[in-house]
Amino acid sequence: MEGVVQGVGFRPFVHALATSLGLTGLVGNDLDGVFAEVEGPAVAVTEFLRRLERDAPPLARIERVSTAAVTPRRSAEFVIAASDAGSGLRRTLVSADTATCADCLRELSDPADRRHGYPFINCTNCGPRFTIVRDVPYDRPLTTMAPFRMCERCAAEYHDPADRRFHAQPTCCPVCGPRLTLLNSGLNSGLNSGLNSALSSAADDSTDPLQAAAELLRHGRVLAVKGLGGYHLAADAGCEQAVAALRARKHREDKPFAVMAAGLAAAARLAEVDAAAAALLTSQARPVVLLPRRSGAAVAPATAPGNRQLGIMLPYTPLHHLLLAAVARPIVLTSGNVSDEPIAYRDDEARETLRDIADAFLVHDRAIHVRTDDSVTRTFRGRPMLVRRSRGYVPEPITTTTGFPRQVLACGAELKNTFCLARGRHAFVSHHIGDLENAETLRSFTEGIEHFRRLFDIDPQVVAHDLHPEYLSTKYALELDLPLEGVQHHHAHIASCLADNGETGPVIGVAFDGTGYGTDGTIWGGEFLMADLAGFERGGHLAPVPMPGGAAAIRQPWRMAAAYVPDSDVARRHPDQWSAVVAMAAKGINAPLTSSAGRLFDAAAALLGVRDAINYEGQAAVELEQLAETLSPGEAGAYSAAVQAGVPFTIRASDLLHAVIEDRTDGVPAPLIAARFHRGVAALIEAGCLLMRERYGLGTVALSGGVFQNLLLLHDTVARLEARGFRVLIHSRVPCNDGGISLGQAVVAAARDRSL
Ligand SMILES: [Zn+2]
Ligand SMILES: [Zn+2]
Ligand SMILES: [Zn+2]
Repeated sequence: MEGVVQGVGFRPFVHALATSLGLTGLVGNDLDGVFAEVEGPAVAVTEFLRRLERDAPPLARIERVSTAAVTPRRSAEFVIAASDAGSGLRRTLVSADTATCADCLRELSDPADRRHGYPFINCTNCGPRFTIVRDVPYDRPLTTMAPFRMCERCAAEYHDPADRRFHAQPTCCPVCGPRLTLLNSGLNSGLNSGLNSALSSAADDSTDPLQAAAELLRHGRVLAVKGLGGYHLAADAGCEQAVAALRARKHREDKPFAVMAAGLAAAARLAEVDAAAAALLTSQARPVVLLPRRSGAAVAPATAPGNRQLGIMLPYTPLHHLLLAAVARPIVLTSGNVSDEPIAYRDDEARETLRDIADAFLVHDRAIHVRTDDSVTRTFRGRPMLVRRSRGYVPEPITTTTGFPRQVLACGAELKNTFCLARGRHAFVSHHIGDLENAETLRSFTEGIEHFRRLFDIDPQVVAHDLHPEYLSTKYALELDLPLEGVQHHHAHIASCLADNGETGPVIGVAFDGTGYGTDGTIWGGEFLMADLAGFERGGHLAPVPMPGGAAAIRQPWRMAAAYVPDSDVARRHPDQWSAVVAMAAKGINAPLTSSAGRLFDAAAALLGVRDAINYEGQAAVELEQLAETLSPGEAGAYSAAVQAGVPFTIRASDLLHAVIEDRTDGVPAPLIAARFHRGVAALIEAGCLLMRERYGLGTVALSGGVFQNLLLLHDTVARLEARGFRVLIHSRVPCNDGGISLGQAVVAAARDRSL
């Protein structure tokens, strides 16, 4: 049996299964996974094989079962063979961190259980994994549980094949395991408040730190909580004063905070939870799920200012379960960091960076080895769509159909960076590293690569990278003394979508995003590619426009309005700079050309008066989408854009913006204009795909790039393409944004290897 079959209770499961069927023989771990020899009546052996896959333990992922006849040993019973701790064990897979299982929850709430109320309860079926593993083989001494010596009772369970905690590496109990502590940050010391009384009572050993922490949250305080993959900042989600204080201290202006609700019922009071969303919320990975917020939901406005969506997750550690039960209301739970820095995960660093944000720290003494953010998901047509693939999913590999002839390192993009190491059929896409623009994130990137190389025993023979010479990930790749494979950004997007769907192309690839370096040195981002895994041809794109001020135009959407429509009335809001910016665009001074669809959305948002400057990536487009969403579907027509034939063809997207201005002048309501603009973009994608089909004779379209996080656009685009008879591929397992780029780069490098 190959796959995730070690450290997940697989051998005890095989033991119990064989014994129940009256079979004799043995089961053990080996280089590739788990092997078993069974002996008994043919009908029982057949049943054994059937149930092996059907009833496997919850964390197991069986990828392959191979069988062969062996000489009978005539043994009298079924036994678990000692494992071979050789270096070959590296080839088996480390599981992702997993939400507390039902059995552990039952014990957690059972006053008669010895782990009653213990915030670190876990077993073979649940608990920390990837975040605590320092090295392989996955064994307690090589995890951050090493300093905790198992007590006799825990050790007895650990060694008993019939026990749920047999070989559960992080197993522990109140006697021998990690402990919680509540610490004052010093931020508000001297204030005569609920804080001080709660803290002083926490200092008294008789008080539970968890109850005291809950008391602080109920008093509107901000709490730093050490979680599974890093520190979170928590506040009462219903208390505007608390959430606003958190926002101000964290220097985060508008970007929404996630909320943790105690269970599905509590989540459904805040947002609309359909069956697909419920399945995601309660899945073992427990990601944040972006959901339509209920009107009148008891959530402080500062949680997600002006946002119609709410990111909700359910408790995934025993500590969360206990805390949520004690607070008895939903809490904001957001990354423990200042502004755009990576989430804090080391104790000293967290105490330092978060002391001006948190009133108190709820901490414990189990170290976090790998910083891992919460994953973020949404659903589309009942299917999960990963927006950020991290805790709970990583490091489980994406299994590809085509495989990797050489071991590959793919360095990813600049924003929302992930890297990818690949060998055999497996692509190990890393946890979310973040935006590679500060030293701390760069360190996560380089250390992460080293860690993955050790964990999965990969020694890359080729390095894939973006073509952008200024990306830190590109510079890292170029400094390695290894063969290089440059992969164009939008080709990587489409290749990623193909790999996500287990396909190889060729397809019509529509890659719409913010920015990506083109092969002609301009900035691309509204691309129609004829692509397979090995290569692509640029069949068409949005007509390029200047980006006045370069990166400044990304932060200030009004500049794109100036570039697209120099005589628009947005000028009135920027009287001092407007003419200079227009001149910059006209003369092409510090104004690189771009065919970016993201910048087109920015211009539309500025022209509609939605947003002139952004506080987080994609904000203008998000707000434009939400404005259009206030409309009931089917009300709006679509603006249209002229196509300039040629190879490549170009689409005059500025037509959409002139239509926006015309409708505005005519007094058409803003939501209706926003909707017509969205449908106009979907219509121009449809038109582009029809031209591509005519030229290349392809009937499948792959949609990728961050712009397709816009569900309004995605729904309309997919519907239009399907109505035209296209087969449409979209992302599910990896993000359509730049978090998916590393997978795309890896499969492109492999495809070029195969075509050599
Ligand atoms: Zn468990
Ligand atoms: Zn113990
Ligand atoms: Zn991109």
